[in-house]
Amino acid sequence: MKKKAYPFHRVCGEYISNEVRDFLKREALWPPDEVAEIRQFMLSSTDGKQATLPLDLGGFGISRYTLDLFLYQRAQQEGVEVLEKEQVLDVHKKNRRMQVTLQRGGMREVDMVLGAFGKRSRLDKTLQRSFMQQEGAYIGVKYHVKSDFDPHTVALHNFPGGYCGMNKVEGDRYNLCYLGSQKDLKTYGSIPEMEAARLHQNPLLKEIFTSSTFLFEKPEVITSVSFAKKAPIEQDILMLGDAAG
Ligand SMILES: Cc1cc2nc3c(=O)[nH]c(=O)nc-3n(C[C@H](O)[C@H](O)[C@H](O)COP(=O)(O)OP(=O)(O)OC[C@H]3O[C@@H](n4cnc5c(N)ncnc54)[C@H](O)[C@@H]3O)c2cc1C
Repeated sequence: MKKKAYPFHRVCGEYISNEVRDFLKREALWPPDEVAEIRQFMLSSTDGKQATLPLDLGGFGISRYTLDLFLYQRAQQEGVEVLEKEQVLDVHKKNRRMQVTLQRGGMREVDMVLGAFGKRSRLDKTLQRSFMQQEGAYIGVKYHVKSDFDPHTVALHNFPGGYCGMNKVEGDRYNLCYLGSQKDLKTYGSIPEMEAARLHQNPLLKEIFTSSTFLFEKPEVITSVSFAKKAPIEQDILMLGDAAG
């Protein structure tokens, strides 16, 4: 796969704790790309009061695009068949085997299915998972920006109704990503208006949003983010990651 200029992102903060560093190295899953070494944590309150402290363990910053591409290539090296531009529409058990229905046609019959399809997928609806009966109360919004923020600090800036994280990833890019309220988005009608009304109440966030260079044409947005409890196994599918809750 040719590496294009950031065509695809997932909404998340792109700060990874060093808890997993040894595991990734041991399993030959440590990306060859440059990562941002992060050793400090900065916290600010909704009115901009701030505290900075060293992180014992620390972490690293890497974009999902770079990390996911690398993991995809490693999987291929290990002989994994990856179906691109494909979606799973349904999974059900038949005669002790699992049948996986694919969007572009076809069906695979397998012994076991692991579900790693994130926080909210159409598959959750098909599987009639109980948390889907309620709308999630949060939204996630993500940008990449250029900024003169300290490259070794991960920041968490609070604002009324949510919080915004910032840390360096590759090159001179920073991830700027927040969890906000779905209700606020409805009230203010658009992302920029909500940001001006809510995020900019924290003067540190206002400074970041007004002085940084934004690198996406528009933000990546996910709506209906829910933190409801989920069952780890449903319809014989063992759930992993956010699909497990
Ligand atoms: C605003 C925000 C900030 C965050 N910041 C951080 C952070 O800084 N550090 C951190 O460690 N975590 C962070 N997280 C949490 C982190 O993003 C998730 O825990 C992590 O991405 C979960 O990984 P996953 O593989 O389970 O799901 P995902 O990363 O969501 O991946 C699921 C994949 O499944 C695919 N998929 C979905 N449905 C189907 C289907 N039917 N068929 C085929 N494919 C399907 C999706 O396209 C996607 O590629 C943040 C989350 C949010 C919302």
